[in-house]
Amino acid sequence: MKEVINERITTEKNNRSEERAALFDIEDIGKKESCSKDECADTDVSRSEEKRARKLNVAVDEVIKSFAPPDNLTVTEWAEKKRRLSAESAAEPGPWRTSRTPYLKEPMDAFTDPAVRHIVMVAASQVGKSEFINNAIGYIIDEDPGSILFVHPTTIDAKEYSKLRIAPMIRDCPTLRKKVSDPKSRDTGNTILQKTYPGGILTMCGSTEAHALASKPIRYVFGDERDRWALSAGNEGDPWDLAMARQTTFYNAKAVEVSTPTIKNASAIEAAFSTGTMERWKSQCPNCGEYHEIRWADIRYESAEKIAAGKKTYTVTDIYYVCPGCGSVSSEAEMKKQPARWEAQNPEAYKTGTRSFWLNAFVSSWASWESIIRKFLNAYGSTKKMQVVYNTCFGELWEDRGEIEDEDSLMARREEYTAELPEGVLVLTCGVDTQDNRLEYEVVGHGHFGETWGIRKGIIMGRPDEEATWAALDNVIDHIYRFEDEKGLRISMTFVDEGGHFTQDVRLQCRARVSKKVFCIKGMYGPDKPFTAPPKQQKIVINQRAVGTCWQYQIGVDSGKQIIMDNLRVQTPGSKYCHFPKTDEYGTAYFKGLLSEHLVYRANKKQPWVWEKIPGHERNEPLDCRNYAMAAFKALPVNLDEIDRHLKAARNESLPPSISVKALNSHKSTSRKKGSAANKYYDNW
Ligand SMILES: [Zn+2]
Repeated sequence: MKEVINERITTEKNNRSEERAALFDIEDIGKKESCSKDECADTDVSRSEEKRARKLNVAVDEVIKSFAPPDNLTVTEWAEKKRRLSAESAAEPGPWRTSRTPYLKEPMDAFTDPAVRHIVMVAASQVGKSEFINNAIGYIIDEDPGSILFVHPTTIDAKEYSKLRIAPMIRDCPTLRKKVSDPKSRDTGNTILQKTYPGGILTMCGSTEAHALASKPIRYVFGDERDRWALSAGNEGDPWDLAMARQTTFYNAKAVEVSTPTIKNASAIEAAFSTGTMERWKSQCPNCGEYHEIRWADIRYESAEKIAAGKKTYTVTDIYYVCPGCGSVSSEAEMKKQPARWEAQNPEAYKTGTRSFWLNAFVSSWASWESIIRKFLNAYGSTKKMQVVYNTCFGELWEDRGEIEDEDSLMARREEYTAELPEGVLVLTCGVDTQDNRLEYEVVGHGHFGETWGIRKGIIMGRPDEEATWAALDNVIDHIYRFEDEKGLRISMTFVDEGGHFTQDVRLQCRARVSKKVFCIKGMYGPDKPFTAPPKQQKIVINQRAVGTCWQYQIGVDSGKQIIMDNLRVQTPGSKYCHFPKTDEYGTAYFKGLLSEHLVYRANKKQPWVWEKIPGHERNEPLDCRNYAMAAFKALPVNLDEIDRHLKAARNESLPPSISVKALNSHKSTSRKKGSAANKYYDNW
């Protein structure tokens, strides 16, 4: 029914004069009636008739006003006139000023262009892409109402967006506040995920909710963070296609999809972008006058690394943009003042009704180049973090750069350790993989900044339910590993896999060794599982009888594999580098096992990124052992600085200056903004 009304309104849009005429008709009737009464000279009756007519006119006027056709404003004009940015989501609350985000003018105006049905925006965070959506929604409610379907990756995202962005926008814009009923009053049709206004309903949902996506017809469809959507809404198919199918009955439908980009060739927003006009925001070079997009590749800087309290920090100086046309150098302040414009690579697509825009963070008023460079430096060495920087800061697709070395080149980089423990090792952990006929283990040394050393790798033949097997493992765990100067370290923590056929035996043996910090672990799969979590108590059941409990750590093995592969990519000794000794244990079989799995993209799976065994690399125990040893280190609360100082004191070496960790922490906490959920959106602005 709402859609029907709305259809009528939009057809009435160009017939305002007819509406006015209708209004006059009613007035005329009133007058005529009062005249005829006048003839009867009954003034009381005529006055009451007049009153009735006036009342009727007011009522009719109200109805027409509430369905008033648009004032022919563009979204930009509407925002300039009526939008107020809310304190909880905007860096600069107050009236909307398009001059702060000049690049949003064109996309916003495209929304009111009758020739455009589909708008795609690929954007870094902190450029205001959400405000583009908010302004369009505000405009719809206020100027050209119709029902809106607003899809987010998950229902939680939808709720958060509604609470932190939509509700404050309605509250702070008087014209919207008048139209959307108060959520506090009952039966208003206004809930977190649904807002009712004259002429339409705004429905927000997650991309997995097929029923919401495939029911009633909808004139406006918005999709936020498209690249994080489910690949299928239940078994019903691509959520975007489902949502779009609801628009077919509207000649004046609009669809808007927005996202930060993700991985090249696996990005939905990248695919959508290439169906449109493919416009990029280009700034004019002050020297040669050419227009170029400011890209990461054209930014130059100097940086210096500082280490304090075990943390690396960077100072960044001499930041410049180098024009790819003439090679001249300009500062950030200069470039942000330069004239800029959208340039389409595929202007023909305008005819098919799709305009697509691509924006990176180098033009943002809220993200300084220095802050972006610092994020880049901090992410160095971690594929996962680097991908986030590429996607959210540079606004670029991520391509997995640099393959992991093959086993031959890892073999070739083995080193002669001068002792059992090379300098740099501060903590030892051990990872044990359990097989039906043996235990495999690796002892790993850990230093500052994630640098690691393979110390000892071995196989203990024997079943996990035999005492002798564990006695042999004790020899590994109890051993004191020594540096060249005879100072030694013990293993601080050992993780033993309880998976397989001997779970209860492993639990029993681990409980007996709890004083040596030997714990059983359960491997959890999936990219969303954290590498380590606090331990849980588990029952030990032998011959169907509970004989006690033990502590079990659940570890996210996929996260661990990602860390190991990232570290193996590092080429120079230092942060995150993996050292291996030139011993027989660390031979071809070891490296083949360490590199036995790789991350592959399986588009038809719910979690499309999966670790798979590489053909010809059937034995993966070395990777598992390394994974468990890394998890043991992660789970171990250690202060490496403290250990370093102790070790140096034991050797009578000069102590490094003691750094107040407390002072550093307090500095960190003051610089952080409060309110974690709100903060997330603030950061993503
Ligand atoms: Zn130039």
